[in-house]
Amino acid sequence: MRDYIKRFLIAIIMALCVSLLFLGGKHSQAAGLNEMKEHWIWPADGVISDTYGTRQGKHKGIDIAGKMETPILAVDDGVVIKSYFSNTYGNVVFIIHPSRIVTVYAHLNRRNVFVGQNIKQGDVLGKMGKTGQATGIHLHFETHELEWRYDKKYAINPERLLGKADVGETVQGGIASMGRGVLEASTHAKPVITEQYVVKQGDTLFSISKKNNVSVDRIKQINHLRSDMIRPKQILIIE
Ligand SMILES: [Zn+2]
Repeated sequence: MRDYIKRFLIAIIMALCVSLLFLGGKHSQAAGLNEMKEHWIWPADGVISDTYGTRQGKHKGIDIAGKMETPILAVDDGVVIKSYFSNTYGNVVFIIHPSRIVTVYAHLNRRNVFVGQNIKQGDVLGKMGKTGQATGIHLHFETHELEWRYDKKYAINPERLLGKADVGETVQGGIASMGRGVLEASTHAKPVITEQYVVKQGDTLFSISKKNNVSVDRIKQINHLRSDMIRPKQILIIE
């Protein structure tokens, strides 16, 4: 009988160890920049016109050049912490994300959000422009760990989160960068044919899926929608 209990206890302890190992492994995988790479989306349609660290290291972001009034999208869920006009950034929006990373969207033609506003990934924060110190129409996009500081001490290369992008490459707003191969396809060799659909009043995912001959599930997958909720003026990528 005692032998039975001993064996039973050993089995339980082993099961616990195995499950702890499993959970521990899962947990460490979920943390860190790799996880974010998989679900951040590009903030705008355009062409990479400058990268991080250029201009003698003073350029602390990446530039996406595009058309005037191109929608500027939040790369991930978050909260607006600043939305104002600065002489250098022009119209600029700052978002803090649950990961504590702060993203900055500068030179906007206009801003559509207010401080304190909750933002979902893909929400339109404003429109592309060339306000502030900008020579052409582009989005200047920065990422900072913990906080934005005047000396930009905590700036990190946005490519770490968005994926590699060289000058001259085309990127598509609303599309996840890494881990899904979509950017891979859109920046190199054969592009995936996509279209942007602007949600109108009264649209549902079902009506959009019928109109564009694509399944609701596929629309949700491409656009990383967690529910069937869509809002007018929201931009959806349709294959
Ligand atoms: Zn820039």
